[in-house]
Amino acid sequence: MMAIVKQTFDRYLKVLKFDKDNVAEQNQIETLFICCSDWAHSQCVMHKQYRENAFALQNFGNTIAPFGYSDSDQRTLEFCVNVLKVNKIVVCGHTACFAMKYLFSADRSEMNQYWWASVEQTYNIIEQYYSDRDMEAKLNVATQENVLCQLKNLLTYPAVSQAVGQGRIQIEGLVYDSVTGQLHYYDPQEEQFLQSIDPVMSAVV
Ligand SMILES: [Zn+2]
Repeated sequence: MMAIVKQTFDRYLKVLKFDKDNVAEQNQIETLFICCSDWAHSQCVMHKQYRENAFALQNFGNTIAPFGYSDSDQRTLEFCVNVLKVNKIVVCGHTACFAMKYLFSADRSEMNQYWWASVEQTYNIIEQYYSDRDMEAKLNVATQENVLCQLKNLLTYPAVSQAVGQGRIQIEGLVYDSVTGQLHYYDPQEEQFLQSIDPVMSAVV
């Protein structure tokens, strides 16, 4: 059994090496795009611009666990930064997100501890500053705050923080409106999310 697994893994590595060389030659993969598993979000990810230029990490709530919590996240980030040498990492949240609804409705004791570690900061910000809002408003602002918290989580990875510090990688936060199809990008100068002039097409360039 182990021999079969090893053969399969070796074949996978050969394929990966071929693809990696191909990618390096053609310089196709420029962006690591971290997004949610919700179906509406997938449409955004499958946009032509992302499909051709991005390596996608898709999970529940577009999260990155803080460094040390997830081998999977660490492998993905280090592969993208050190092997693919992406020049941008994008975290993209979206409205009407099941993960945000789950965060504010589920019993915390039932939540996966690694997932909770990723979103705890989001939860605390909303409870501290937006507790007087109704649930819909809470979820909307939680979507934005969660994107910013995941960007902070990204920077806990030495490979990412070093690349950002050296100017090799930019990190960017987006929120996709699953009703209108508009993308909003975080402007650090304005300290708020602004609507992209050219929706969907130009938010990640
Ligand atoms: Zn979602």
